[in-house]
Amino acid sequence: MERLQNLIDGTLRPAQSGRWLDVHAPATGEVFAQLPDSDEHDVELAVQAAKRAAPGWNALGREGRSKVLLKLSELIERDLDEFARAESRDNGKPLSLARKVDIPRAVANFRFFATAILHFPSEAHLMDDVAVNWTDRQPIGVVGCISPWNLPLYLFTWKIAPALAAGNCVVAKPSEVTPLTAYRMSLLCEEAGMPPGVLNIIHGLGPKVGAAITAHSGIPAISFTGGTRTGAEIARVAAPMFKKLSLELGGKNPVLVFADCDFEEMLATTVRSSFTNQGQICLCGSRILIHRSIYDRFKEAFVERVKALRVGDPDDPASDLGAVVSKDHMEKVLAYIALAKEEGGRVLCGGERVVLEAPLKDGWYIAPTVIEGLDGRCRTNQEEIFGPVVTLQPFDDEEQAVAMANHTPYGLAAVVWTRDLKRSHRVARALQAGIVWVNCWMIRDLRTPFGGMKQSGVGREGGVDALRFFTEAKNVCIKL
Ligand code: NAD
Repeated sequence: MERLQNLIDGTLRPAQSGRWLDVHAPATGEVFAQLPDSDEHDVELAVQAAKRAAPGWNALGREGRSKVLLKLSELIERDLDEFARAESRDNGKPLSLARKVDIPRAVANFRFFATAILHFPSEAHLMDDVAVNWTDRQPIGVVGCISPWNLPLYLFTWKIAPALAAGNCVVAKPSEVTPLTAYRMSLLCEEAGMPPGVLNIIHGLGPKVGAAITAHSGIPAISFTGGTRTGAEIARVAAPMFKKLSLELGGKNPVLVFADCDFEEMLATTVRSSFTNQGQICLCGSRILIHRSIYDRFKEAFVERVKALRVGDPDDPASDLGAVVSKDHMEKVLAYIALAKEEGGRVLCGGERVVLEAPLKDGWYIAPTVIEGLDGRCRTNQEEIFGPVVTLQPFDDEEQAVAMANHTPYGLAAVVWTRDLKRSHRVARALQAGIVWVNCWMIRDLRTPFGGMKQSGVGREGGVDALRFFTEAKNVCIKL
């Protein structure tokens, strides 16, 4: 059985503890690999290596660092198919999705930040004849990057790429649930010309490795994507140490469907925004709010489309949904469906585990589920489920729709469907969400600020926001 390794100081090695954790294939439920069960001792080695490497990496300059990151992006692209297979096997997502979205986006993340750093502008502020100020932005030194399992390589590289481009050395922790592609990437670092110690990848459990990164005094900045509860724990530990924090957390995203929308386009996109990646994208819309005048038409057409979705072997190009990521997660999602019923919800389709034929019979599959009859205050409509489950609720007017959309502790993303230009502006501005899509979903320009309001996070990633996060600004004032 394959045993994955940590990357520390340019060498691949097991955890110092000598312990291992199992990696499961969600499609079959079987164990297919092991990852190092690392702890604070491995993190310590990584921090020391990163500190030693930092001056040299910074001295390479933007051009030098850019070349290494571009090379790494080329190598991942060269091996795209192998990466996509690893991602699908580890996560349970359809192979077609990993090929089309996850791995191309990881390639794009490196390419984008490798070139963005070349164009990252310096600012200057002239005070008439008095003085000139210029903003010096220096790398922080060693930074920590912690990522989740839903878009494994996509989100891992989304953090690492800007951190490295800005001149930092990185101690990174992929999710223990999906460690495979981060490990595959670590095998390419030497070929890409990455000096030892610049990128260190430590595998293991969140409360051990993630907590050690968070608490380490030699890591003054942490970029984290994951659950809100974990984000709160990281903030609790990091705040008294005055660490810089970027927290990208959970969501309970609303989709607002007005009667004047392009119905067909809305319908096709809403099926995608509900169930892509088995609903395990932080940006999926999970609460669909529909104008009462078209509620029945929407319900009928939507449920028909959802019933036609195929849950199946992730390797089969005909599968629309693969497996959810773990047994625990499947049980959590099924428990929420049971809760929805207890709260008075009516399951219009789905609502249960799907058992496929051998060799997939022990895999973790859930039928795409649509529920109606619940108001916005119940737990089903307040808490993040993060699976293939959506609820339908009618609204009577725009004001009510916005109030319903904003009525959760989260504020990550929202989708608005209307042909009325004025309404699209009004509603987009009134929504408490870091990202609003109008008549579309998941169109991503990597230059735009990405992140959430309220309990969905603190700070923004993407474009100059990420490069600013991973640098310290210093104002230098020179008297004229
Ligand atoms: P999680 O919070 O359980 O884990 C995320 C990462 O944090 C993992 O690497 C984990 O090992 C680590 N971790 C766990 N405990 C830790 C601790 N005490 N200290 C430091 N690190 C720790 O989240 P998950 O279940 O892997 O991912 C799903 C969640 O991620 C959902 O809530 C989803 O909405 C969220 N998410 C948010 C975004 C976004 O951009 N806002 C994107 C994707 C996923």
